[in-house]
Amino acid sequence: MTKKLTCISCPIGCELTVYVEGDDIKVEGNRCPRGFEYAKNEVTNPQRMLTISVKVENGVMDLVSTRTDRPIPKKMLEEAISYIKGLKVQAPIKRGDIIVKDLLNTGANLIATRTVLKK
Ligand code: SF4
Repeated sequence: MTKKLTCISCPIGCELTVYVEGDDIKVEGNRCPRGFEYAKNEVTNPQRMLTISVKVENGVMDLVSTRTDRPIPKKMLEEAISYIKGLKVQAPIKRGDIIVKDLLNTGANLIATRTVLKK
């Protein structure tokens, strides 16, 4: 299998070509080793940051914006979204508060990216 990717590990954005044959992975186009790691993860276990709103009770706003503090496996995004949609948190919430610790055992915390005061 051959795959074309753009490395997003730094602003240069090298265009990568990834060759996969069984467990053998070769990468061309990367200017540094981070490009190889990025390409390897993309073809073996792609990860993404998750940004999502969480319902708030007793707050001046009904939702608080959140994000994971590190990428989580792409294959777990759907499960994480449906879990987070079922949550309700109590105001007040401060920017940076941990809303969910170790989200679905991914090692990532879901953190508030804004403050929501109590009504
Ligand atoms: S391969 Fe290295 S230099 Fe190129 S975009 Fe990725 S991190 Fe930046």
